[in-house]
Amino acid sequence: MNDGLSLDAHAHVEPTRTSEELAQAGAVLAMTLSLVEAAAAVERRESLVAWGVGCHPRMVDAQAEFDRERFEKLAERAPIVGEVGVDVRWSRVPLDLQLRTFRAALAFAARASRPVSIHSFTATRLVLDELRRTPVPVPILHWWTGTAPETREAVAMGCCFSVHSAVARRSTLRTAVPPERILVESDHGWNDPPAAIPCRVEWVEHLLSVQLKCSREDVRKLGWENFARIVRETGIAALLPPGIRAVLPDEACSADGLRLF
Ligand SMILES: [Zn+2]
Repeated sequence: MNDGLSLDAHAHVEPTRTSEELAQAGAVLAMTLSLVEAAAAVERRESLVAWGVGCHPRMVDAQAEFDRERFEKLAERAPIVGEVGVDVRWSRVPLDLQLRTFRAALAFAARASRPVSIHSFTATRLVLDELRRTPVPVPILHWWTGTAPETREAVAMGCCFSVHSAVARRSTLRTAVPPERILVESDHGWNDPPAAIPCRVEWVEHLLSVQLKCSREDVRKLGWENFARIVRETGIAALLPPGIRAVLPDEACSADGLRLF
């Protein structure tokens, strides 16, 4: 695997960025906030950017306009579902509407075998309850703020955790999450230049290296290994862009996915 290439498991990148700008971002799993954004994103063909199809729980218009059939048509073309989830603290979207969208996304991911990047900020109990109701192959918890018991419960349910700087500082990450469940992310903002992504990933790797008592290079390797396992388990290799597929080990890209946890 390529130790030099950064891997960002959750970032927001404008799909209108030029190919030159996106080429500076390293390997990125880029999450979309609305189906309008996702429709533009799935047409892009950058070698190192894998786009998710999502509908963010805080996006009032996107949630109101969410159409299940349209979502599924777009998500069939994408290796990952995201960003979806629930937000009870900051969202002005009614909870029943948030849940309707989230449940549709989980049902698709369960049926089509996709990892799901899940916004769980302040809604940790709700998210875990929804995952029990509709188990998906690999739930990836983004912005995780759960208690230690909730975190252990999430681990027992097979969840992974994509970690940005605020989450990397939380002690529950060190005490309750096995390293093989950790992915590194920037949660890079939509308006920020993609060239900043590798710096942000490196900063999170530094924070995690302190928590995990290993080198930053080891954290990078761990992120790639964990992602390779997710790819193998879900069988999404064929949907990944060629530059990301090229740095994964052959067994991650074999046609039949293995269930590892
Ligand atoms: Zn996000």
